[in-house]
Amino acid sequence: MDSKETGSAPKRILVVEDEEDIVRLITFHLEKEGYRVLSTGSGREALQLARQQSPNLVILDIMLPEMDGLEVCRRLRAGKDTESIPIMILSAKKEELDRVLGLELGADDYMVKPFSVRELVARVRATFRRFDREENNTSKEARETELKEKVLSLGCITLYPERHQVTVNGEQRTLTHKEFLLLELLMQNAGKVLTRDLLLDKVWGYEVEIDTRTVDVHIRYLRQKIESDPTFPRYIETVRGVGYKFAKE
Ligand code: CA
Repeated sequence: MDSKETGSAPKRILVVEDEEDIVRLITFHLEKEGYRVLSTGSGREALQLARQQSPNLVILDIMLPEMDGLEVCRRLRAGKDTESIPIMILSAKKEELDRVLGLELGADDYMVKPFSVRELVARVRATFRRFDREENNTSKEARETELKEKVLSLGCITLYPERHQVTVNGEQRTLTHKEFLLLELLMQNAGKVLTRDLLLDKVWGYEVEIDTRTVDVHIRYLRQKIESDPTFPRYIETVRGVGYKFAKE
């Protein structure tokens, strides 16, 4: 159980979904894992709850009455008190997910319905592990000792792991969490080919069967942000049938 593992207060998860059966199912399994679950079927109420209760994670369905999940996601990201809460999107259609990624709403993860609850729970756990790790990494000491040595700079691209920033020719680019992790991994291993499976494993970090095309989609968006000509990438090379490589100049 999470609370036992860390010895801290149980993590609070806000589930935003209007289908009661799904809410009940998710709630049951998350509570069994030791998480505290709040839920609502309304996007507006979700925004209010997120501000008042500061949940540690929001699980957000796209299809909601009145205000849809995309709008809720956008507003959470724009809110000062809610901008850094991890968000996991639920969607009934793969096409919707392409939209989610395309809109760059900054969701941290997503699942296509129907999903396995076991997988959902595994991903929730993985998300918390990742964020806890990051929190530890950004402690003052770590920041002071590591800031200088960890900066990665190749060609025009500079990546600041502690500040979570990327610049191209000195200009800052806004990357989603996943894009940032992908780029960091590729730059750390510049000149080496990284397979899609390895990237999935390291960036998404859970052992589930998920489509390796997810990697391709994220690489596509990443290229649009850092390459001057995304169709002829200079930095992130495709190694056909294998994976990707960051060019070592
Ligand atoms: Ca729904």
